[in-house]
Amino acid sequence: MNAPLTKELHNRRVSLFSRYFGQTVLAIGAHPDDLELAIGGTLARLSRNGARVVMAVVSVPADFETRRGEAARAAEILGCELRVLMDDGCRRIDDIKSYQLVNMLDSLVRELAPAAIFTHSASEFHRDHVAVHSACLSTQRLKAFDFFHFNPTMTRAVPVAFHPRAYVDVTETIELKMQAIEVHASQFGARGLDTELFRDIARLNGRMVGVKYAEGLDVGRMLIA
Ligand SMILES: [Zn+2]
Repeated sequence: MNAPLTKELHNRRVSLFSRYFGQTVLAIGAHPDDLELAIGGTLARLSRNGARVVMAVVSVPADFETRRGEAARAAEILGCELRVLMDDGCRRIDDIKSYQLVNMLDSLVRELAPAAIFTHSASEFHRDHVAVHSACLSTQRLKAFDFFHFNPTMTRAVPVAFHPRAYVDVTETIELKMQAIEVHASQFGARGLDTELFRDIARLNGRMVGVKYAEGLDVGRMLIA
C-alpha cells in the first residue's frame, strides 16, 4: 500500500512542471540580467519540460548593443526567447508614463496569452523593478494566468525582506543558470564582481526544501485545479 502511494506522490511532484507543457510562460524583468539572476534555473527547467518561455526585458539603460547581446546569449543558454520591449536604444523606465508601461505589458500578454507570468516582487528596492512589478499586477485583469514574484535582484548583496512561499528545484539546471549569468560580463566580470552570490542564494533556498539548489518564489495567484 505504501509503495504505490509513495510512487504516486513522487510522480505528482515531478509532473508539476507538466502544468505548463505546450503553453507559454512569460518572464518579465526590468533590465537584462534580472531574470537570469532570479529564476534562470526555473526558466531553463520550464523550457526543457516543453513550455515556450519568453524572457521580456523592459529596458536597457546603458550600453544597448552590448547588453542586448549578452541577454540574447543568456536566453539561448536557457532555451528561451528574448524580447526587448523598449528596443529603440538606451532607455530608462522612468522615460515613460506608468500607463504606457502597463499598455506595453498588456500588449505582450494579449499577444502571448501566457499560462504563467514571473516578475519582480513588491519587495524590490530598485525603482525600475517596483515599476515593473506594479505594471504586471495590472495585467492580471486580462486573463487568469498564474502569477509569481521572484527574489529581489542585485549585482552586489543587499539585505532585502523577501520570503519565498514556493521553491523550484533547480539542481539540474544550476550550471545553465550560472553560465547565463556569466555572459552578462558587463555587469560582473568587467566590474570585478563574481557571480557566486547567486549559487549561494540557490544553495540556501535549496536547504529550505531539502534539495541541493532551489529558486524561491512568492505566489501572487495560482489555480490549484
Ligand atoms: Zn534590474
